[in-house]
Amino acid sequence: MFDKVLIANRGEIALRVLRACRELGISTVAVHSTADANAMHVRLADESVCIGPPPAADSYLNVPALLSACEITGADAVHPGYGFLSENARFSDILAEHDISFIGPSGDHIRLMGDKIEAKQTAERLGIPVVPGSEGAVSDPKEAIQIARDIGFPVIIKAASGGGGRGMKVVEREADMEVSLHTTQSEAKAAFGDGSVYIEKYLGKPRHIEVQVLGDGQGGGVHLGERDCSLQRRHQKVWEEARSPALNDSQREEIGNICAKAIAEMRYSGAGTIEFLYENGEFYFIEMNTRLQVEHPVTEMITGLDLVAEQIRIASGSRLGYSQEDISFHGHAIECRINAENARTFMPSPGLVENVHVPGGLGVRVDSGIYSGYRIPPYYDSLIGKLIVFGKTRNECLMRLRRALGEYVVQGVETTIPLFIDLLQEPDIVDGSYDIHWLEKYLDRTSSAQ
Ligand code: ADP
Repeated sequence: MFDKVLIANRGEIALRVLRACRELGISTVAVHSTADANAMHVRLADESVCIGPPPAADSYLNVPALLSACEITGADAVHPGYGFLSENARFSDILAEHDISFIGPSGDHIRLMGDKIEAKQTAERLGIPVVPGSEGAVSDPKEAIQIARDIGFPVIIKAASGGGGRGMKVVEREADMEVSLHTTQSEAKAAFGDGSVYIEKYLGKPRHIEVQVLGDGQGGGVHLGERDCSLQRRHQKVWEEARSPALNDSQREEIGNICAKAIAEMRYSGAGTIEFLYENGEFYFIEMNTRLQVEHPVTEMITGLDLVAEQIRIASGSRLGYSQEDISFHGHAIECRINAENARTFMPSPGLVENVHVPGGLGVRVDSGIYSGYRIPPYYDSLIGKLIVFGKTRNECLMRLRRALGEYVVQGVETTIPLFIDLLQEPDIVDGSYDIHWLEKYLDRTSSAQ
């Protein structure tokens, strides 16, 4: 086991990792930019190192500064959290060259899944169902039109190196193909440094359902069930739940087992998420994330497993030590992402948090790094907390969520809490009948009514 873990992240996820380390008796090193000197993860860590000025490129993405911080503090492993360097294969390789463990999969697996075209090809090889589309990258408009004709319009052009819901364009008709192809290519080149794009069938009313997996790189692989992340705005998740209201037990078991088998076969090491679109009873792989996800707590609530502790154990060389039959699922969990944003316009609202009161009680978990008197810096993601609620049934979970949201007070900055309070009034949300477009349509409908 590791003696000291450096947490290469900030905000709620840095705290989340710190908590797991502390329970395992591992010392923690926080790193921070000058803008984050008073952040909670810095205050709670055993040691902290300032790694640069506010822009992420100069601090949280600054590999030489992170290496120096490891050196100075004697950390023997790095947990990257999510975002920042969590899916940077080169970072994982560099740490290995310095005999520091990366708490995540191998650089090779990160690289393989980071290229969405290769990821899709690998998934197909491993027996995972994929979205129909081009076999590889497409650059010729004529070829693009032919592929689209074969699979049928509408199609979606996607950047091979895309992420964060960016680098995608829907094409409805043949006449738009050439321009759309060129725009997506140049946008992808500018945003991700890689202009390669591929084409897939655009699914009209899918749900986003993902499977959490764990592998030990030594032949062990399990799935921890699915999460439904269909409530999205601009392809970004807003609310996640486990289990999915759309699946029955045999569908869950079938897709879960396919994923667990693939992970074992790949000798994948660590936590990962295999993402699917789900429509008319069929699953279509879209990508695999080789890191901890923002929404991992809903899986923890229904399995009782600490995913960060599992990541740490696996990275230190342990085998899983349990098999699929040892994992059981109980109840229902929902996570709401609380952002410092206006709940209607989604304009960021950084600044001084004058007062915070977080909800509590049975089945309520809040993962958040803010406190009364904390100043939210304008430089980073606007996620300031996650409210995670557990119930024996989905219904109990919804009632508890309504109660917990009512208790949650954040003064001084705007937050997305009012959005969730409104959503709980919607029959479709209560019934669990929503697809990936539901939230955008709801926002259009309710803002034009105001
Ligand atoms: P990213 O890596 O940017 O998150 P994904 O490939 O995971 O990109 O897609 C993000 C979201 O974009 C999906 O959850 C879905 O809402 C939408 N999307 C992606 N591919 C398709 C598709 N083939 N048809 C319809 N929607 C899609």
